[in-house]
Amino acid sequence: MIDLTNRTVNKLRVLRRVENVGRQPAWLCVCKCGTEKRFLGMHLRAGTPVDCGCELPQRMRAAQITHGMTDTPEWTAWNSMVQRCTCKTHAAWGDYGGRGITVCKRWLKFENFFKDMGPRPAGTTLDRKNNARGYSPANCRWATWEEQQNNRRSNVSITIDGDTRTMKQWATHFGVKYSVVKARHAKGAVGMELFAASPRKPYGRRLIIDGVPMTITQWAKHLGVTYKEAWQRARNF
Ligand SMILES: [Zn+2]
Repeated sequence: MIDLTNRTVNKLRVLRRVENVGRQPAWLCVCKCGTEKRFLGMHLRAGTPVDCGCELPQRMRAAQITHGMTDTPEWTAWNSMVQRCTCKTHAAWGDYGGRGITVCKRWLKFENFFKDMGPRPAGTTLDRKNNARGYSPANCRWATWEEQQNNRRSNVSITIDGDTRTMKQWATHFGVKYSVVKARHAKGAVGMELFAASPRKPYGRRLIIDGVPMTITQWAKHLGVTYKEAWQRARNF
């Protein structure tokens, strides 16, 4: 029989051989917390006991977070986030990992993700505030579908004469209230229609120059300039 006296197994130190438990040799150990407890030699040699049991509640809590939450909505959201960003065979890889959307290092561990995001409120899903950026505490939130749609709208990119900016940037550029532009966008307006000078003057209005009524599109064609330029000239007119 191997003498285990004075061996250290995790937080336990073997004190001395004690009476068998059934036919199994047993040893008395002292835990770092000072508690003395009997363990089987076979278990001590395998290194299985961690402590006398004093830190069992903490260990169970940690285990619960890693293993007891695999069926929760938070874990499902976390798992699918990690999959689509790291797994090349995932169906959505092309829209995520393949497009450079990453999961921050901290969130590769579910415990950290859950600590930062907290429980998922009913009716919400994991949302990135800025769609061009990856998954991180700063860029993520639990959001309802409506909240996410509103967010998408403010991030809409619009190309006018080869120049791409967000809808908000264009609104500032053309000096039109963003709320007006958003409302038009919601109604299906596109391109320059969104940034027409005033809500009181529809974009199709005719502009009378030297007694000739023409729409801005017609003026643009007539003057050989882009719509944007014609619009800006009309605005200063
Ligand atoms: Zn202990």
